[in-house]
Amino acid sequence: MAQTPGNPTSARSPNYTAAQARQAILDRLTPVGGWERVNVRSALGRVLAEDVIAPCNVPAHDNSAMDGYAVRHADLAPQGESTLTVVGTAFAGKPFSGIAGAGQAVRIMTGAPIPEGADTIVVQEVARAADGKVHVPAGQRAGQNLRRAGEDLALGGVALPAGKRCGPAELGLIASLGIAEVTVHRRLRVAFFSSGDELASIGKPLAPGEVYDSNRYTLFGALSRLGCDLIDMGVVRDDPQALEKAFRDASANADVILTSGGVSVGEADFIRELVNRLGEVAFWKIDIKPGRPMAFGRVGDAWLFGLPGNPVAVLVTFYQFVQDALQALSGVSPLPEPALIHVECAETIRKQPGRREFMRGRLALAEGRQTVRLAGAQGSGVLRSMSEANCFIVLPEERGDVLAGETVQVQIFDGLV
Ligand code: AMP
Ligand code: MG
Repeated sequence: MAQTPGNPTSARSPNYTAAQARQAILDRLTPVGGWERVNVRSALGRVLAEDVIAPCNVPAHDNSAMDGYAVRHADLAPQGESTLTVVGTAFAGKPFSGIAGAGQAVRIMTGAPIPEGADTIVVQEVARAADGKVHVPAGQRAGQNLRRAGEDLALGGVALPAGKRCGPAELGLIASLGIAEVTVHRRLRVAFFSSGDELASIGKPLAPGEVYDSNRYTLFGALSRLGCDLIDMGVVRDDPQALEKAFRDASANADVILTSGGVSVGEADFIRELVNRLGEVAFWKIDIKPGRPMAFGRVGDAWLFGLPGNPVAVLVTFYQFVQDALQALSGVSPLPEPALIHVECAETIRKQPGRREFMRGRLALAEGRQTVRLAGAQGSGVLRSMSEANCFIVLPEERGDVLAGETVQVQIFDGLV
């Protein structure tokens, strides 16, 4: 594995910027192999492994986009009203079987096939029907209010490309083609554990100095949202032997290993050196706040993300680096554009130039204007403000203090709330 910049295992190695780290990770990843056939409903959240080719046109036939009258445009006078004889009715699912001849119109409902001979739909709101006739005002455009066969999806074309993650719209689209099964990438297998001697499991009273292990639940939520198969390995002590066993087990069973805690430079932080011995560490310091220490590398055949221990840093690093990495490994291509917008900041924010900071923010509409403010205390252990936030305020490396009224970049939570 290329190890730039500098020696990544050295505590004095140069840092990565967030952008360099993200790119370095994505550059190394290719989708894991394996696919399966699933029915349409089970495709929700799954990633298509091959293009879906349209076996028919959608719509299947030219049809009306409105309730009204199907007419022949050539019959309509350029000025004044035209009067046509109504010769029948076309319903969605019950076409008019005759022909619309010269001077004739067919009453038509939305979705009904266009009768032979007709080429234009006059909406019922402008037409005046009486005694088997319909009176049509001038100014109708030839071909108006028609949905053409194949205008949504054309027979033989790529209806959905491989690499697309299926959401509700995709399920509907697949069904609109009459397709019952699609081929999807297999789910990514992710093993995860928390590391730290101070971590207590929920459901038991805390001993002095202990904290409940919350990161495993945060990661459970984030990974479940991404549709991964999960291997929850619990809490592993700050003990090199126990950690080594956990890493060996995880790498034998999973595509990806996610850990939290123990990647810094404290005396109980063993993960970086251990992974360097068992596999490779690509880097471990990123110029971001929170979340500076983070390991990325390989153990056996599995990719490793060693996230920091602080609960908010876990979510920041997951969101900035891991989420898209898992998407790429799951076969998603191209990766979705990050949802970044520029908005006015409603309050002053203190920042030292140097690191890229991800602050928990709350976007809100005030007096018709979208503004953002801090969602509460910004300590890297404070999950409450993470829960109250709906976005990150992303302050670039070089930026200093933000004054109230200045514009900031905001990354809207997608999948985190
Ligand atoms: P570390 O990165 O191991 O030095 O941990 C940094 C901070 O995060 C310490 O205050 C830890 O107690 C806390 N921490 C680490 N792991 C977890 C966890 N799984 N749940 C909650 N807090 C944690
Ligand atoms: Mg620790």
